[in-house]
Amino acid sequence: MRRLALILFLFASAIVASAAETNFTCVVCGKTPLTGRIWMSKWGAVCDDCYKLENHCSLCGLPIRVGDGSVKTGDGRFICRFDKRDAILDTAEAREVFVDTRRELMELFGRSFALNFPEVKVDLFDVDYWSEKGRDDGLHKFGFSSTRKNKSGVCTHEVVMLSGQRRTELVATAAHEYTHLWINENRPPEHAIAADTVEAICELSAYKLMEAQSQPEELSRILANPYTHGEIKKLVALEKENGVAYIQNWVKNGTTAALETEVSALAAPVRKPALMFTNLPALLPAALKLDGLMLEGAKRRVIISGVSFAAGETRKVSLQNRTVQIRCREIRTDSVALEVDGMAEPLTLRVGEEKYLP
Ligand SMILES: [Zn+2]
Ligand SMILES: [Zn+2]
Repeated sequence: MRRLALILFLFASAIVASAAETNFTCVVCGKTPLTGRIWMSKWGAVCDDCYKLENHCSLCGLPIRVGDGSVKTGDGRFICRFDKRDAILDTAEAREVFVDTRRELMELFGRSFALNFPEVKVDLFDVDYWSEKGRDDGLHKFGFSSTRKNKSGVCTHEVVMLSGQRRTELVATAAHEYTHLWINENRPPEHAIAADTVEAICELSAYKLMEAQSQPEELSRILANPYTHGEIKKLVALEKENGVAYIQNWVKNGTTAALETEVSALAAPVRKPALMFTNLPALLPAALKLDGLMLEGAKRRVIISGVSFAAGETRKVSLQNRTVQIRCREIRTDSVALEVDGMAEPLTLRVGEEKYLP
């Protein structure tokens, strides 16, 4: 029925610059040049004063200061001026996203994924719609769907989605909720499906759509989301083997509560593993990234994709698709020069920048 996700706080890196001035400007208050303790956000440097501010952007964690161009939602969440450009706060816009998402799912999965009762009422809601404020388990509702069936079998569909999501996240939420509606129409009452499996089938639609739209960050986020208790990983593997039509057909004609038991039955008598996990992306970083810089006199250190280096050191860094040997050649005030095994030219990484290796 609903889509949950973890809220992530995105301050991965801090720079400490002592006497030496940097050329950083605080993206929150505009102070420049910054010295002392400097925090890196995905949008740029943040001074230590702003870092200590009480309110944060609900999407990226950036501190919020009065008059900095951020917006406040009806339920008291803040959205920073950077995320504001991409966040959807308007119901008409959310409805367009839903319509586009539904069309794209149909292109991806075929006409069999259409609704027999195509009318869907779509709305946006604020968090306190479900009195969610004050929950401390880090889980958060992103969307909700319901279908009412009258005596003659006519369905009335409704979807509500959280206001202030980034466009891409709203697309994933819309795909998830649309799939609930399709299951509501197509699952016969005698086919009971486990709750985790229903959620995973819905999340699979979001996954396939994000894959088609080349959104690797969303794919990792969907796989890492704990709320299907791992079922989503099984379904991604199952879909790779058998296709979406297999899963749709199971919803309509299956008899078991979860998909995997039927699959192992089909795989008999040769018991090759029906579910393959080996080709799922691991949750290692995909790209090389300068996570942090420490500039204290001669003791300079950097953190590259989670691994710490001093100048001149050689270490191994594990990425999603491979492990590379890296020598840290030089640490500058806002970047680092690296020698990457197998690359002819040294690679320069700036703070917060990501580079995918060829
Ligand atoms: Zn500041
Ligand atoms: Zn933000």
